Order: sequence, then structure tokens, then C-alpha cells
Amino acid sequence: MSVKITHITCWSLPIPLLKPYFLRGGRTRIDALDSTLIRVDTDAGIVGWGEACPWGERYLPAHARGVRAGLATIAPDLIGESPLGLDHINRVMDAALPGHLYVKSGLDIACWDILGKVAGLPLWQLFGGDAAHPVEVNGSVSSMDPDEMAEALLACSARGVRTHSVKLGDQNPALDIDRIRAVDAVLPKGERITWDANRGWTPGVALQVLNATNTTHWAEQPCETVEECALVASRVRNPIMLDECLHSFDDHQRAWSLRAAQGVKIKPGRIGGLTRARQLRDFGLNVGWQMHIEGLGGCGLEHMAILHLASATPDSHRLASWPGDDLVDIEICNGTGARTINGVLTPNTTPGHGTTPDEAALGDPVAIYED
Ligand code: MG
Repeated sequence: MSVKITHITCWSLPIPLLKPYFLRGGRTRIDALDSTLIRVDTDAGIVGWGEACPWGERYLPAHARGVRAGLATIAPDLIGESPLGLDHINRVMDAALPGHLYVKSGLDIACWDILGKVAGLPLWQLFGGDAAHPVEVNGSVSSMDPDEMAEALLACSARGVRTHSVKLGDQNPALDIDRIRAVDAVLPKGERITWDANRGWTPGVALQVLNATNTTHWAEQPCETVEECALVASRVRNPIMLDECLHSFDDHQRAWSLRAAQGVKIKPGRIGGLTRARQLRDFGLNVGWQMHIEGLGGCGLEHMAILHLASATPDSHRLASWPGDDLVDIEICNGTGARTINGVLTPNTTPGHGTTPDEAALGDPVAIYED
């Protein structure tokens, strides 16, 4: 079937957080998100939607305004190309702008949406799933005082969330040890924690904190580099989850060969979209990793697209998925975006990813690329 891209339209969507969010023991503060919504039109009249929304500007080497600058470079080269050949689309994007993977994610997602609509299938089916399996939500407890963090975890639990990402990463090991003890003391039976340092510890602090407590829950991204995390992994009882130090396929392969992790977080928004995420998900399945597959924030569109890949990943190798929907108050997708209900997220069953924003709510586009 011949389908060609005719127009690419972009909107800017500011999304304030309901309250400030803190990472790395409190050193990194995030107040608002800056999302970019992307509509890809085709000569077949089929439209695909994507979203790119780095979690603020201080968390990742991904710049929200850089998404829109990068689109101005890439989008003209996609006009006239077939959105159905996702590997080809990614090669065209890589030739137009080497690197800058976070810029490409929204375009990749929009093309997957078109492929699903042309095929008449939801993405979870194109990703190999047999049904719209619900995915457990990963809650998020930001870095605060130990008692406040314990309260925040109980509030997540009361919403039905059973897996919790608890943000540590202080340079003072005594404070993170107190945080672990306070949160562990109230953790309801059967619930799980990932202690996430977001690269905030040196290896020495990581060993002091993790080995000073009895916790055997996952520890996530303790240090900056794969090599530092491998050192920690060799000297703690906790399984290690890696996140921000993994970008390319080569990074993932190095993490595996150094025995730096037993699990990874696959975030299409920072590794270039669903095409690359599916390759890494398949690598993870083959080396026995347990994975979180999730978005970076936004209005629920990006996360719904990613949820299809998470849903199609076997329970044995998929842990949970963080939608961040408790941290923002935005509804521009008429209820079709990812939303936590009783602690789980369920993918749409309509063709593509099934999420369509209300264009009237988006206002004027910031750019239109066409012939
Ligand atoms: Mg993390």
C-alpha cells in the first residue's frame, strides 16, 4: 500500500506540575513540563499523533524547546516518505539529524499510529501481544523528609498502586538511610519498591546506604556511569535497575556484559521512539532483564503509545510503568490518553495507539511542514 506523508504539524503544550517534584535527594527540582504534540498527515487521509515531553529540563540530556528546533530540521525530510516503513523513517531521521534521539520519538510514535490505523490493529498487536493486558502502575515518591515520603507512599498505595519508585540520591548517606527506614516501615505487605538515586550517589555512598539497611528491593541508577553502577551491583544484595545511563543499543549491551544490572527502564522518549524501544525490549527479553517500559511525562498521549509496548511484553519480564498522571491536571485527549485506574493502565483497543488530542484545546500550531 502506498501512503505518503504530506504535512507535519506541531503544537507546544505547557503542563504545570500540581506541586514541585524533587529528585536526587532534593537537588533537582521540576515545576513544569513543556510538551510538543505532533500530527502527521498522509495522502491517504490517515492521521497519526505523537508527543515528545522531556520530564522538565534538569533531568535528562533532552531539551523541550530542542524538540521543536530539531523537528524544524528533520520534518521537511519526512515529507513524501512512507510512514509505514518505520525502520526506513528512522534512517531518514538519523540522516537528517544524527543523535538527538529525544527529538525523534514523537515522529516515530506518530508513524506507528498511522501503521496501526492502516493495518486496522492496535499497537499492542503489532508489538506481538495477544490482548490488551493491563500494566501495573509504578508510583513515584519524590525526595522529601523521611516522614513525608512515608506518607506519600501510603497515599500512592491508597490509590491502588503496588509498585513504588522512591527517590533518593542524597550526598548525605545518613539521610537516605533514614528515608529507606521510614518508607520500609510503612510499606504494605506484598508491595514493591525501587530505590531510585537518579545518578545521585558516588559508588561509596551507594554501598554505604544500600548495605546499611536490610532492604533487598530494587536499587535504580545508583551512580552516573555504567561502570560505577557495575561496581555497586557487584557489592550489594539488591538487584540493580538502570535507567538514565542507557541511551544506545551499545550502552545496553555494555551494561549486560559488565553485569551492571538485572533490569532496565526503557523510555522511548529518550531513546528515539517505539522502533528503538522494541529492539531494546527484545534484547532485554533475550538476556533475562526485568523491565519498566514507560514515558517521560506529558498529556497521556505519549504514555498511551508506550503502554502498548509494555502491555505486549510478558509479565515475567515486565515490572510496571510510570504514567505520572497523579502529578499533573490535564485532559485534552477526551479520555483516550493513559490514565491510572485501580493501580493499572490498560491500552486502547482501537487501531494505532488510540489517543487523539482535541485540536481546539491546543490552539494555534507553532509550525507546519509541508511541500
Ligand atoms: Mg529512574
